[in-house]
Amino acid sequence: MIHQTLSGPLVKAAGVPSDQDVRLINSLGNPPPVPVSERDVYVRRCRLAGDAVDAYHGCFHTDDLPKLLSMIQGAPLLVGHDKRSLGVARFFGGEIEQHGEHNYVMPHFYWLRGHSSAEDLRVAIDGGLYCEASISFCYEMPTCSVCGKDIRTCEHLPGSLEAGKQVFYYYDRVVAVLEGSLVYRGAEPGTGFSLQRGTTVAGVASQNPGGGMDDTDQRFGIPTLRVKRHGKWYQAPLIEEG
Ligand SMILES: [Zn+2]
Repeated sequence: MIHQTLSGPLVKAAGVPSDQDVRLINSLGNPPPVPVSERDVYVRRCRLAGDAVDAYHGCFHTDDLPKLLSMIQGAPLLVGHDKRSLGVARFFGGEIEQHGEHNYVMPHFYWLRGHSSAEDLRVAIDGGLYCEASISFCYEMPTCSVCGKDIRTCEHLPGSLEAGKQVFYYYDRVVAVLEGSLVYRGAEPGTGFSLQRGTTVAGVASQNPGGGMDDTDQRFGIPTLRVKRHGKWYQAPLIEEG
């Protein structure tokens, strides 16, 4: 299982909540115990993942976008991935929308006007202080666009050119959306891959194709270990101890 985080811009305010917004909020799984009306909520929306190749050199299959949108439904929206705080808003509804030449998941999110910090949040969003929303999700397979294998172990490097085309990978078999966050402009992309199982790993070691990590690297003539970090491959010579 691979954990990935993607950010997208908050886009033009959704305006006055519609009847459909209210219906969707009140029919979420685990809905508000006291049904809300259009006078109770602020609604905004954001452009998240799409079928364009993103900064991590990953992208979704166009056919998977509706599934991703359905997985976002009801997820809480935090501020700055601060999991010690409670969510300030919740994702609901939304659509798949074309932007340029690509399609994107465009979830809506709402928060309550009656909350003591509701105006602070509205001002921060509408004034551009929080200008991106970010979701973290888990998927099982980064499929190489060139050879169709797991790109962590195949020989292709995301972002490099292969026969004149940029190498990328598909987020295949998405299993969950974990949380969403409002983030500041210029949020730094994190590590492209990390492994679940309790420990966060900064990169993923890869075995050289056809052999173990002690294979002799043809370019350098010495055994090397290849590590992928932030979407780039790095090599380190293996030095025998003792
Ligand atoms: Zn490949």
